[in-house]
Amino acid sequence: MKTELIRKFTDTYGQAPQAVFFCPGRVNLIGEHIDYNGGLVMPCAITLGTLLCLAPNQEKVFRFKSLNFEEEAVIPMQESYTKEGKDWYNYPLGVINELLKDYTIPVGFDFLYSGNIPIGSGLSSSASIEVLTAYALGSYLNLDIDKLSLVKLSKYVENNFIGLNSGIMDQFAVAFGEKAKAMLLNCDTLDFKQVDCEIGDHELIIINTNKPRELAESKYNERVAECEAALAALNQEIHLNNLCELNAEKFALHSHLITDETVLKRATHVIRENDRVGLAAKALNAGNLEEFGRLMFASHDSLQNLYEVSGEELDTLVAFCANYAGVTGARMTGAGFGGCAIALVKKESLEDFELKIKADYLQKIGYACEVYKSEIGHGVSAI
Ligand code: ADP
Ligand code: MG
Repeated sequence: MKTELIRKFTDTYGQAPQAVFFCPGRVNLIGEHIDYNGGLVMPCAITLGTLLCLAPNQEKVFRFKSLNFEEEAVIPMQESYTKEGKDWYNYPLGVINELLKDYTIPVGFDFLYSGNIPIGSGLSSSASIEVLTAYALGSYLNLDIDKLSLVKLSKYVENNFIGLNSGIMDQFAVAFGEKAKAMLLNCDTLDFKQVDCEIGDHELIIINTNKPRELAESKYNERVAECEAALAALNQEIHLNNLCELNAEKFALHSHLITDETVLKRATHVIRENDRVGLAAKALNAGNLEEFGRLMFASHDSLQNLYEVSGEELDTLVAFCANYAGVTGARMTGAGFGGCAIALVKKESLEDFELKIKADYLQKIGYACEVYKSEIGHGVSAI
C-alpha cells in the first residue's frame, strides 16, 4: 500500500513525497457511549488504518487528495479556516486551523491520503485522519507538540469544526495504541494503562453491517444531550462533574431525581456500562475470557435496550453470535446505528462462523455484511 501511494503521489503532484505516516482505526472492546460521561473505556488500535504522504510546496497552498474520495481541494494559506460544506478535506483543514492557533505553518503542503478502514462504519476513520494529519505536520515541522496535545486538538476538531460531540476515546486509541494491548482509559482524568490482550485460541473479528449511518450524527448528539439532562437532574441533590462518578449502588440512591423515563434509561446504561468495564479489565488480567465475553454480550444488551443505539442489523449479528457455540463474546462497537460489531471467535470455528453469519444476515436483512479478521496494532507513526 505504501509503495503504491508514493508512486501515486509522485504522479499526481510531480514531486516525490518527503514523508509517509500511518494512523490506525480502532475498535472499542467495551465501554460504549461513556467516554463523554467521564467513564472507563477499553479500546484498541487495529491494523486497518490511513496512510498519508506529504511534501511542502512553494505555491502557498494546501492541496488535499484522497484515494478514497473523488473530491479534491486547493486551499490558499490563510490565518484561519471555517468548515466548507461536507467534503472530507474539512477533517485535515480543521486540524490545520487548530494548529495555526498556536504554531506557524510556514509553507504550503501537498497531501495524499489512502485508507483501508471501512469509512463511516464506526471504526473511527475520522479520528484516524485527524490524528494522522496533526501528527504528520507536528513531526515534519518539528512542532513542540506532544501526543496527548495532538489527541486533544483532534478531538476539538471533531467537536467544533466537524460538529460531532464525541468524547476523546477514538483519538486517544489511534494515537496511543500498542500491538496486542488494549487501553484502559479513564476519560475524565485521561489516566490510562495498557492491558495485555491475550485472546489465546480466539480471533478478534469485525463484522460490518454495511448499513449507511444516516441518522447517526443527530442521534449521537441527542444521546449526549440526554446524558447532560440526567446529570442536571442528579445535581439538584449531589454535585457531579460526570455521570460516571457514580457506581450502580450510589446511583440507586439518587436516580429518583430523574423523572424522564428515557433519560433514566440512558443514565442507567452509562452507570452499569462503566461498572462493566472495571470488571472486564479484571477478567482480562485474570485471563478469564469467558467472563469477558459475558460482559460484552451484557454491554450489547444494554446498548440495544437502554441506550437504544443499536438497530436491527447489529442486533441480528450479535444474536447470531450469542447462539453460536464458537463465539465467546460479541457486541456492537462504536457509536452504533449501523456500523460494526466485534466478536471473539474461536480459531477452530472461524471458517464456519464466517459462512454462517453471512448467510444468516443476508437472509434476515436482505443485503450482505462483511467480515474482517483484525489484529491489534500500533498507534500513529511515521513509516
Ligand atoms: P467513522 O469515523 O466511523 O469512519 P465518520 O463519519 O465519523 O465515520 O468519518 C468518516 C469521514 O472521515 C469520511 O466521510 C471522510 O470525510 C473522512 N475520512 C476518513 N478516512 C478518510 C480517507 N482515507 N480519505 C479522506 N477522508 C477520510
Ligand atoms: Mg468518526
